[in-house]
Amino acid sequence: MSFRRIEDAPEGQRALVRVDFNVPMADGRVTDDTRLRAALPTIKALQAKGAKIALLAHFDRPKGKRVPEMSLKPVAEPLAKLLGAPVAFADDCVGDAAKAAIDALAAGGVVLLENTRYHAGEEKNDAELAKQIAALGDIYVNDAFSAAHRAHASTEGVAHILPAYAGKQMERELDALDAALGAPKRPVLGIVGGAKVSTKLDLLKNLIAKLDKLAIGGGMANTFLYAQGAEIGGSLAEKDMADTAREILAAAKGKCEILLPVDVVVATEVKPGVASTVRDLKSVSADEKILDAGPETVKRLIAAMDASNTLIWNGPLGVFEVPPFDAATVAAAKHAAQLAKSGKITAVAGGGDTVAALNHAGVSADFTFVSTAGGAFLEWMEGKELPGVEALKR
Ligand code: AMP
Repeated sequence: MSFRRIEDAPEGQRALVRVDFNVPMADGRVTDDTRLRAALPTIKALQAKGAKIALLAHFDRPKGKRVPEMSLKPVAEPLAKLLGAPVAFADDCVGDAAKAAIDALAAGGVVLLENTRYHAGEEKNDAELAKQIAALGDIYVNDAFSAAHRAHASTEGVAHILPAYAGKQMERELDALDAALGAPKRPVLGIVGGAKVSTKLDLLKNLIAKLDKLAIGGGMANTFLYAQGAEIGGSLAEKDMADTAREILAAAKGKCEILLPVDVVVATEVKPGVASTVRDLKSVSADEKILDAGPETVKRLIAAMDASNTLIWNGPLGVFEVPPFDAATVAAAKHAAQLAKSGKITAVAGGGDTVAALNHAGVSADFTFVSTAGGAFLEWMEGKELPGVEALKR
């Protein structure tokens, strides 16, 4: 994917940098600084270019009004600590106060601008607001992939006014996504799990057109099994989606091999440590629920991983929050991580509960890339254009 990077930017510019500082906060204090840490490589790269750095971000949903509890001010101090340098704060993202704060910076200095969503024009991608923001800088850097599926003034509007570059975090994300679905090393295997078919229809349709193999797990696999005439007892399933499931299988024929569970783990209730049984697809009884993929299914999935060069994963294979129904997800995740760590495959995962599932398996660090971007990652997996990314392309 060809997009502009910080390396391409000129030296000594006023840089407007869109970051994701939508951090967890309690009583006006940041309780998890992961997103602040994630912005450091971009800030440092711009400092090395002698830029004056103005950080733009949204926080929560003030819906176009100044809601004091949704101020970004409490973020400045923890960010300064992580950066080891002062971070100024301006109480608006446009206008004289912001301009004065940026003008006052020395080369490499950093100012955090107040919540972009205090302005109603932000979410409307208002051209006037974008112009006012753009007036504060010479270049624009977007480091907030997680907000790139939204065409807002600070994520897209400004990018069309100023020369626009991807930040370091955005760059890593885009390079990983490209390696997984854009121009992947084949064969490519996908794993899609999670609760429902209905929320992942676009995703499934896009994947069967792009992947060599697709393993379907979780609650959504129950719908597919039901559509094929299997007995699924009291399992979570969308029986009204049976036709859709059959259509997807038909559309995949000859293009993308679909792997469905061949055995399942069942129990009569979803409770930690409850007695569970492995069943084939003919012997699930009416009072049982399918809560995980069975060992033979995991074995086949692992063999499919071994035969692939690229893996893209969204959604758990079972009710991973309630052991023992985490077993298939954990076993598959560990194997994928091992292959990725030893350089045998490129393994990219993300979206919704996937990050929690991989953290639960203790393997996130060994994957090639795990996206925490949620909605943006899913839209990208659905094959949609992300306006914030499109604006960075050459
Ligand atoms: P999603 O957000 O669509 O990725 O769905 C994730 C959720 O699907 C998790 O909370 C899992 O517990 C749930 N899930 C996975 N497999 C099953 C299953 N067989 N029955 C019910 N829920 C499931």
